Amino acid sequence: MSISHPRLHATAYDELQQREEWFRAVFEGSALGISVVNLQGHVMEANAAFQRMVSVPVDELRRIPFVTLGHPDDREHDAALFRRLVDGRLSSYQLELRYLRADGGTFPARLTVSLVRDEDGQPRFCVAMLDDLTQRTRAEAERDGLEERLRHLALHDPLTGLPNRVLLAERMRAAVDSLAHEPGARCAVLFLDLDRFKNVNDSLGHGVGDELLRQVAGRLAACAGPADTVARFGGDEFIIFLPRAAGREQALAVAGQVRKALDAPLQLGSYETYTTATIGIALADGTGGSPDDLLRNADMAMYHAKAVGSVLAVFDGAMHRAVMERLGLETDLRAALAREELRLAFQPIVALATGAVVGAEALVRWDHPLHGHVSPQRFVSLAEDTGLIGALGAWVMGEAARQLAQWRLELPGAAGLEVSVNVSPRQLRDPGLVQAVATTLGEHGLPPAALKLELTESSLVEDPATAAGVLRALKRREVQVYLDDFGTGYSSLSSLHRLPLDALKIDRSFVSEMDGSSTGAYRGAEIVRTIVAMARSLGVRVVAEGVETREQLAALRALGCDYAQGFLISLPLPAAEFEAAFLRGDTPFTWGDPLR
Ligand code: C2E
Ligand code: CA
Ligand code: CA
Repeated sequence: MSISHPRLHATAYDELQQREEWFRAVFEGSALGISVVNLQGHVMEANAAFQRMVSVPVDELRRIPFVTLGHPDDREHDAALFRRLVDGRLSSYQLELRYLRADGGTFPARLTVSLVRDEDGQPRFCVAMLDDLTQRTRAEAERDGLEERLRHLALHDPLTGLPNRVLLAERMRAAVDSLAHEPGARCAVLFLDLDRFKNVNDSLGHGVGDELLRQVAGRLAACAGPADTVARFGGDEFIIFLPRAAGREQALAVAGQVRKALDAPLQLGSYETYTTATIGIALADGTGGSPDDLLRNADMAMYHAKAVGSVLAVFDGAMHRAVMERLGLETDLRAALAREELRLAFQPIVALATGAVVGAEALVRWDHPLHGHVSPQRFVSLAEDTGLIGALGAWVMGEAARQLAQWRLELPGAAGLEVSVNVSPRQLRDPGLVQAVATTLGEHGLPPAALKLELTESSLVEDPATAAGVLRALKRREVQVYLDDFGTGYSSLSSLHRLPLDALKIDRSFVSEMDGSSTGAYRGAEIVRTIVAMARSLGVRVVAEGVETREQLAALRALGCDYAQGFLISLPLPAAEFEAAFLRGDTPFTWGDPLR
């Protein structure tokens, strides 16, 4: 079979036509705006998308220069590039520019113009393609918005909307860095801690607590200037950062404003409450100190203010040393407890009627490897503040019981010996105390009467209901309780009346006033007389503390006081010395009573 020429011709023609159809379909159907532009810059042909984008029908397009379609501000650049293209100096160019919409608005588009040459390389016409970027720009803006929101979330406290620690750190870092270049410039941090916030949270609920924090945040924000940062640092702690504080005075002025702002009552739903804040202030100049140091110093000042019962403190070096020493001491005390480096000293208690040693008060002692003897006043209060008192108290009780049981067992005459231990206010609040006492007694095979607990008036006054409950529980177990430092607190006779006490220990300040010719002698004797009378009416015994002179001893005896304790009789002694001095003789143990 042969293929004829005309048939071949017809096929080529068909193919051409077909191809033309394809290209037209692509041209017309394209989402890109496509136009053919002659070398004079006039549109010859434009697809539907192009006409739609520029809102000009094609016959009109043919009459206006192509570059005038763009936004007037963008035309010049476009025209310059187009000239270079038709001159043959460029083969194509791409621009992002704005086009006018029918409604007068503009839209962003990417324009790509390429030059088409003939077989000899001569420029023939251009193809301009227009890509509407509106969608893409919108997506970008959305993404930027999300990013912005994400950043906000990451840097702000969700509850109050205030900057959080991260943003605060960022701003402090920038401010502290720039201080280095500005001699004399300073920044300040106010560290605020709301007082008794936990009470609100616990008693009124978290919802009310949250509302309180939000309202406080609003008031604090109002105290700060536009360049300042008010941040929530955590829980009920807020920071006001002044990147350019004129000095201490300005920081104090802001603190004053804060306190005033918190003066007005807060309306929390149906509750009206007040809140106060303790404020610590630290300042920095460009001479070193990181933002962390600054925050830590302000925190330390706040902590110091609380410790001394003040509302405000400005950080200084002495404070730093005091806090560091306390922190060091705390660490050391923890270690001392763990390593059993504490000791008990025993101070004898004698019966005034017979002169016999009936018992001893156990007093804790700590010989610090570096600082030597540390006063119990100091480390007991430290233990109270840090919660170590639980472990300390348990150790004291256990050790006192162990020593007492050993003496009772080994020394025939010590069979009736009693030891009293001091129990701190915080221990009294421990619901496990009564059980712990019972367990300790049981472990060492001691009868309940062998161990007395000395409680101070203040610990009974603080929470009378709890104290009364604990005392009654101890009473049921036949454990005796002495009221320590009596007369220095505020207990009224009526409140004492309801408490099952076994003895009152007259504070040594009154005993020391009983002496000879001192002006307080009369008052001291009067007070002791009254206390003894009160004790009689309550049916409890009386122990006089801090007896240092024979006169005091004689006066106490004359007033009918039951027991005495003090340096006149003996200093508190290490166990071995106490044993040698008082427990090795005949029973009942006596001492060199000067009045006998
Ligand atoms: P406190 O319970 O009133 O203990 C009596 C304090 O008076 C002891 O001081 C004792 O050494 C001192 N003292 C005794 N006789 C005289 C005297 O004639 N003149 C003078 N001026 N002082 C005398 P210490 O051992 O320094 O203890 C001080 C305080 O520390 C105690 O006062 C007590 O509140 C507390 N403490 C001591 N040991 C413990 C303990 O194991 N646990 C608890 N919670 N507190 C303790
Ligand atoms: Ca005591
Ligand atoms: Ca005392």
